[in-house]
Amino acid sequence: MKLYPWQHNDWQQLQNYVTQQRVPQALLINGALGIGKQHLAEQFAHALLCERPKSDGVSCDECGSCLLVKAQTHPDFMDVQPEEVGKNITIAQIRALMEKLTLKPQFERYRVILIHPADALNNAAANAFLKFLEEPTERTVLILVTHRLNKLPATIKSRCQKFTVVMPDKSLVLPWLLQQTNNAEIVLNLAQGAPLLAQKYATDEHTQQRLDCFAAWLSVAKQQSHPVIVAEQWLKLPEATLLFWLSSWVIDLMRYRYQTAPKNLYHADLNVALSELAPRLNPIKLIEFYDLLLLSRRRLETPINKQVLWEEILIAWAMLNRSG
Ligand SMILES: [Zn+2]
Repeated sequence: MKLYPWQHNDWQQLQNYVTQQRVPQALLINGALGIGKQHLAEQFAHALLCERPKSDGVSCDECGSCLLVKAQTHPDFMDVQPEEVGKNITIAQIRALMEKLTLKPQFERYRVILIHPADALNNAAANAFLKFLEEPTERTVLILVTHRLNKLPATIKSRCQKFTVVMPDKSLVLPWLLQQTNNAEIVLNLAQGAPLLAQKYATDEHTQQRLDCFAAWLSVAKQQSHPVIVAEQWLKLPEATLLFWLSSWVIDLMRYRYQTAPKNLYHADLNVALSELAPRLNPIKLIEFYDLLLLSRRRLETPINKQVLWEEILIAWAMLNRSG
């Protein structure tokens, strides 16, 4: 599949750059996590390199250029990403890239550099990189991809053409997701509409993790498990996901104040347990607990002891349940 069913409008806009011969020197593709920005950027890169794009502009998969792309040996295609997931793109990587850019492109078409996630450029790497943005090289297109636009230095942002991918319409996503899971509505809700995130949430492993965490959280509420022990078990989980689950459980609990229907919950499948818990909790203290979760989200971006963080959250949660 070349494009996801919800990407045709975005693709059309990118194609307009090509047909109008106005492909930006530096394109900054941004938008929420899990909506396929990276895939879109790759398809656009391949199309720019392809010698005989199809009528809708996608790459042909058959020409010499496409075969080189497939073999990951195209001399005019550079894919820059952190050497390890979650790490920065280093200044050494950017220097190596700049060196290559002093040479002319080897083929007649575009040369394409894909950088993702662009927010992984540390300051030094970003500065080294500015030189390229200030003195662009011929037929070279830079594509940056990020879901954290605010993490990018303003100097970089201001020199790129911004291309924002919006959250796709549910009607375009659901038929696609229903082919993969019976829980399409639930996981799409949980993913706040982001299709690829929903797809990930639909896996058995992810579902089981979420249910296990919820069970542990309930058992802390009922004073059946010790916060410190649960905190230790949670250390091996992806922290951003875990924090999102916690926040969305609390939001669901708040929604019961307004007699919400289960289908409006993030966790419709946990409706029974949540609805039993909700009336026992003091609404003001619940909001204070939510504030603690928001604060924790910011603290996760600093070098913090995660055991201590989860302990704090779980102890506050246990006390909230005790006070009623
Ligand atoms: Zn081709």
